[in-house]
This record gives sequence, C-alpha cells and structure tokens, in this order.
Amino acid sequence: MPAKLLLPIVQLGDPVLRRRAREVTAVELASPRLQELIDAMRETMRHAPGVGLAAPQIGLGLRLAVIEDVPDPERGLSDEERAARERDAVPFHVLVNPKLVREDVTPVRHFEGCLSLTGYVGVVARARGVRVRCLDEHGQSRTIHARGWYARILQHEIDHLDGTVYVDRVATRTLMSSAEYARHWGEAELEEVLAGLDADRAPSGPAPGSRPK
Ligand code: ZN
Repeated sequence: MPAKLLLPIVQLGDPVLRRRAREVTAVELASPRLQELIDAMRETMRHAPGVGLAAPQIGLGLRLAVIEDVPDPERGLSDEERAARERDAVPFHVLVNPKLVREDVTPVRHFEGCLSLTGYVGVVARARGVRVRCLDEHGQSRTIHARGWYARILQHEIDHLDGTVYVDRVATRTLMSSAEYARHWGEAELEEVLAGLDADRAPSGPAPGSRPK
C-alpha cells in the first residue's frame, strides 16, 4: 500500500479528541477531497490495525468514521471466541453525521482499546443493541441495526465524534497495559478477570482534599 495514504493517528492529549466534531456538509461529501480522505482513513485503519477510525483521531473535527471488522487469522480469535462476543463480520463502511440510539440497553462488558491510547486496554460496559442513522460516502441515508461487538464499535466510534474516549467509561480498576493483559489475563474468562482485579470495588478512604467530619 502506498505510504502516502497512511495518516498519523493523534494520541490522547490532543485537544481535537476532546471537542465535539462538526457535521460534514453535502458539498464536502461530494468533493473528491473527502473521498480521498475516506480512502486514506480506510488504509490507516487497516494498517494500524483497527476495526474503526473516527476523523478526530486523524486530527479532523468532522462527524465521519470508518468501520471494518473482518476475521483476521493473525489476530487469532477463534470462531467460539467471536461467537461469545457476538462478533459477526462487518464489511467496510463509512458513517457520515451518525445519530445513535441505544435500543437494547443491556450492559455487556468486554475489554476494548483505542488507537488514540496505544498500549492500553480496559473493560467497558456498552449497550448490547443500537440503531444508527447516518449517510454513507455517497450521501445516501442508511439505518443500521447492530448488536454485540458491532454495536460496541459503533458506540466507541460515535463517542469520538462527541469528544468522548473509552477511558471516560472504563471500569478504572481494569485499565492495564496491553502487554500485561496478554501476560496475565488474555486467556481468562471475563468473570475471572473482574473478580481477580476486584473490578467493582469502589475507591476507599476519603477523597483527596475532603475534610474529616
Ligand atoms: Zn478509539
């Protein structure tokens, strides 16, 4: 793949990741520049590799994201593991100006990571089912019904368009380096991980700065 198509992915701390992105206009969507940008985002996502990339992650405050989640033998998820995560293959597609509604709010917990916070993962509870209305790259309106892992990806990417990053929603005691995750927890069932980390424990002791009564 031509290296010029790869875009630098900004990391947490860049203010663009904390701003609400603006809508893409019809004129912008019809422009060759935007189509080139979408191509570059697709190649950047595949190269990372990742299953989603939102425009703020390449430094652009636009309500635009790309998603693709196809089985990758090198990433080593078995058919059983994909089934347990309700992780069906999702072909490449583009979200322009998406609006998300949580249709099945049943919380589902899994580890996730982010290309804008490399080297870390943590457990995030996400709604099991969502509906997304958006435009595609040709300006056609689309309605997406998603559940399981696809619903997780949509929630993660659309959060980026509102300046929200997964660490805002993470169970903080489960946040860890990817290397330590692979070393200690990668083979474990999620329930074992949550118990092993005492994930639901509330912080103990007085809050810093609070005065004794
Ligand atoms: Zn992300």
